[in-house]
Amino acid sequence: MSATTPGLVCAHHHLYSVLARGMPPPPKVPTTFREILEQIWWRLDTALDLEMLRWSAMLGAVEALEAGTTGIVDHHESPNAIEGSLSVIAEACEEVGVRVLAAYGVTDRHGADGAARGIEENRRFLGEGNKGLVGIHAAFTCSDESLSAAADLAAEFGVGAHIHVAEGPEDVVAPGRLSGLTNNKWLLSHGVYLPDDHGLDGTILHNPRSNLNNSVGYANPGRFDNPVALGTDGIGANMIESFRLAYVMQRSVDVTASPETSWDWLGTGWDLMPACREDRVVWSYEPMDPWHLAFTPGVRPLEITVGDEVVFDETGPTRVDANEVRARAREQAARLHARL
Ligand SMILES: [Zn+2]
Repeated sequence: MSATTPGLVCAHHHLYSVLARGMPPPPKVPTTFREILEQIWWRLDTALDLEMLRWSAMLGAVEALEAGTTGIVDHHESPNAIEGSLSVIAEACEEVGVRVLAAYGVTDRHGADGAARGIEENRRFLGEGNKGLVGIHAAFTCSDESLSAAADLAAEFGVGAHIHVAEGPEDVVAPGRLSGLTNNKWLLSHGVYLPDDHGLDGTILHNPRSNLNNSVGYANPGRFDNPVALGTDGIGANMIESFRLAYVMQRSVDVTASPETSWDWLGTGWDLMPACREDRVVWSYEPMDPWHLAFTPGVRPLEITVGDEVVFDETGPTRVDANEVRARAREQAARLHARL
C-alpha cells in the first residue's frame, strides 16, 4: 500500500493547444474529423507565434505537475513560427521542472517548403543534443518524399518518429503509406482505423478523451500486438483521468475488462521516458492501485520530486508562480483568439 508513484508520463500531448480553451467558435460547425482539423486545430496552429507558444507550453507544464505528470511526449506544429519552436517548448518545460520529448510535426499541408522547414526544425533541435523524436503530422497530409525524409532523419539520430496514424477515416491508407518505414522506436498515435494486423512497428498511443471528443470511435488498442501507452492529445495532462477513461472505454465494449489493463498502458509511458521512473509523486490517496483509482475521482499530488528537487509542494509549483503563468497565458490567449 503506497501513496507514492513515479512521475506519470503523458505519451501524446500538444502543448501548443493549451490556449485553445475559450477560443471563438469555428465559422462553420465541423461535421467530420477532417473538418474538425480544418475548422479548429489548423486555424489555431496557423495563428501561433513563439510568444503565444511559450506561455501555452508554460501553462501546459504547470497543469501537468498539478496532475502528477513529470514527463510529456509532445507533438508540435506552428506553421508560421517553425524555427526555434521546439526550443521554446523545451525551455518552458525546463523552467517549470517537467521533462519533455519534443517533435515538430512535418506536413505538406503548407507545401513542400513547409515540410522541409519542419524537417529542419527537428534536425536543428536534435542536432543540438536535445531530447526528442522526429514529428510527422500524419501520412494523409504528407508526400511519400516527406515521410521518407522524416524516417531517414529519425534513423540518423537513432530516435523514433512520432506520428498520428489512422485517427480518422481520412487516414485509413496509413499502414500502406508507412509500410517499411516504422520500427519499435516509433510512436503511433490513435490507431482507431488500423486493422488488427496493420504490420506497423512501434508503440500505439491511446487518447480516449480526444477520440470521444472527435467522435472518431474507439481504438480498442488491446487488439494490437504493439505496446500501448496513454496520452491526452492536448486536453491537459491528467493521466489518472486518462487511465480512468481508458478503462471505461474498454469496459464499454468488454464487460470483463479489468482496470489492470489500462494501468499497464499508463505504465508503458515509463518505457518512453525512463527518467520519470526516478521521479517521485506523493498523492492525496492511498493506495495508488488500479482497482481503487478506476473508481476514485479527485486524486491529486501533494509533493513531486524531479531528480533531487522538489518541483511541486502544497503551495503548487516551486520553480514558477502558477498565478503569474496563468495571468500571462490568459494575455497570450486573448492575442491568439483575436487572430481567429
Ligand atoms: Zn495528437
